[in-house]
Amino acid sequence: MGISDGDGTRVVRAGLPEEEPYAPPLPGPVFAAHYHLPGDPAGAPYAYGRDANPTWTALERAIGELEAPDAGGAAAPGEPGEPGGPEGVEAVEAVETLVFASGMGAISAVLFSQLKPGDIAVLPSDGYNLLVPVRERLESWGVEVRTAPTGGDAQLEALAGARLLWIESPCNPGLDVCDIRRLTEAAHAQGAVVAVDNTLATPLGQRPLELGADFSVASGTKALTGHGDVLLGYAVCRNAELAAGVRLWRKTVGAIPGPMEAWLAHRSLATLEVRTRRQAASALAVAEALGARAEVTDVRHPGAPGDPAYAQAVRQMRRFGCVVSFTLPDKAFADRFLAALRLVDDATSFGGVRSTAERRGRWGGDAVPEGFVRLSVGLEDSEDLVADLAQALDRAAES
Ligand SMILES: *Cc1c(COP(=O)(O)O)cnc(C)c1O
Repeated sequence: MGISDGDGTRVVRAGLPEEEPYAPPLPGPVFAAHYHLPGDPAGAPYAYGRDANPTWTALERAIGELEAPDAGGAAAPGEPGEPGGPEGVEAVEAVETLVFASGMGAISAVLFSQLKPGDIAVLPSDGYNLLVPVRERLESWGVEVRTAPTGGDAQLEALAGARLLWIESPCNPGLDVCDIRRLTEAAHAQGAVVAVDNTLATPLGQRPLELGADFSVASGTKALTGHGDVLLGYAVCRNAELAAGVRLWRKTVGAIPGPMEAWLAHRSLATLEVRTRRQAASALAVAEALGARAEVTDVRHPGAPGDPAYAQAVRQMRRFGCVVSFTLPDKAFADRFLAALRLVDDATSFGGVRSTAERRGRWGGDAVPEGFVRLSVGLEDSEDLVADLAQALDRAAES
């Protein structure tokens, strides 16, 4: 990834209002359940706080700028990188962005607003674990749900007659990758809409709309906001009619973020470029170090040249995220390893400034071995992390 790909400039300016003397560059959160609303409410930008809030509007503009196709003259890997300039900031396709109280709020809004009884939906079989209860709920409403793994573009086989294809690439926690453009073209040929869960990559790592998808949907709780202190979700859509359904779902279900969360998220976006760059570089170093250890098997990271997902990842991703997964001999070994780590917290979630790791099998629900560990690489110095992982492996092997 080029260092001057314009992303640093884009994220620090994303969604900011026009400069106004003596006003803050990023206005503070607006706390309002209702707004002054004289006369006819039709066309009022702000009327009631469940429908719209100026702090969401600024964040939605920022996320939309980052997810929109052709933003910032960004180059695909292998193409000459164009230096990003302020003029690149304007060059985005119009998209609609909606922020939610959590990633699940956004995912449910897209699925439940777009699908009706009798429709066929294709989901990944190895996606985020809450897709399982979502699937059961969709089926109870008369939607036929088919699933297939992410790797090998296996969802292609399930597309006949589908109304919606849901892609998660890279998928969590297995880190397999599919060809988003190929799957999207095949789904569109069937008349299906396509949504991609972009949580792991973030919009700096991958832009699903540029690859043809109708929706990019994500949890902002992870790397997007990156500090482990905010829950947030979003959906970005290039089609106003589809977006209107999602907006009505948000309004009727009320899955809205608080103004403080929206403001914290916008503030955090300014560091997205430095965070994701540092995390991707450290994740690669960590994956290489783990791969050299005899106790560690199946090390996965889409940015590692030896990874099964690498060839496809470099075709559609520009940064490869902070997650490294691997398998230790058994549950007891993995528990000893996690307890011996000093710089890596035993905690769930990923994408934060502090490294975390967990044994995924402790939750049930993911089809992973008992010794499977998902590690999220934070902003610590990579030498320190590599040393900490090595001493924890040594200690786990001793006992
Ligand atoms: C965490 C996660 C979600 C859910 O997001 P929340 O903000 O926790 O609701 C969805 N998809 C993926 C890939 C995730 O990692």
